[in-house]
Amino acid sequence: MNLKVLGFLSPYPKENDNCPGYLIEDNKYKIMLDCGNGCTSNLNMNYDLENLIIIISHLHNDHYGDLLSMAYTSYVYYNLGIINDHIKVYVPYPKSKDEELIYDYLLSFKESKLKFIPYDENTKIRHGNMNIDFKSANHSITTYYIKVSNNYKKIVYSADTGYSDSLIEFSSNADLLICESTFLKSQIKSTKYHLNTIEAGTIAKKSNVKTLLITHFWPEIDKEVYLNETKKIFDLTTVSRSNKVIKLGGIHEKR
Ligand SMILES: [Zn+2]
Ligand SMILES: [Zn+2]
Repeated sequence: MNLKVLGFLSPYPKENDNCPGYLIEDNKYKIMLDCGNGCTSNLNMNYDLENLIIIISHLHNDHYGDLLSMAYTSYVYYNLGIINDHIKVYVPYPKSKDEELIYDYLLSFKESKLKFIPYDENTKIRHGNMNIDFKSANHSITTYYIKVSNNYKKIVYSADTGYSDSLIEFSSNADLLICESTFLKSQIKSTKYHLNTIEAGTIAKKSNVKTLLITHFWPEIDKEVYLNETKKIFDLTTVSRSNKVIKLGGIHEKR
């Protein structure tokens, strides 16, 4: 399994860096985890559209904003015969009026070959040789941690979350933990629904993961500052960069 970083900024994309999105590939099957603003621009067209599913961790704009691009791309490429079927998009089953409104908005896309499928914590997805599992996260709206595993490797994505023992348990012994690290240690957290660098490092350490990839940074702050702080807690930390590829078993960066 390989992972490519499509985006890692919030709340807005800046220059060539997008809002959160990650592409996992295993034996030509692909999973796009979140589709933040601009993520489509880092896909390898048309190859990445083949055997692709999309999973949205939660319905905050920075995590689904580029679905509009994917909708129109799917529509145009379907009409050109480049793709033969709908692209499945798994979205958290809406649990509030506000979430329902967003879900209805997604369903209202007219020029689209996206097929929206609601999921919850009990949903199990099989895609190629990959199994996908979910666990409720500690965030301000319905949000899920996402685990992607095959017979050999395990990737866990924290989505957006506050500190939680359930994330430690869920990511236990993962080969790769993609973990949000919204705040620096020096910043006062404006909400309990996000992590700082120290908490991300602590979660990685306690869950005994092999590699920690930190993400969900403020566009105004240098990535290296996040990295330096997190490494003091967990040395096997690497930082998100656009188009960075992590091959499980080794890290290959493309700057
Ligand atoms: Zn976010
Ligand atoms: Zn969020």
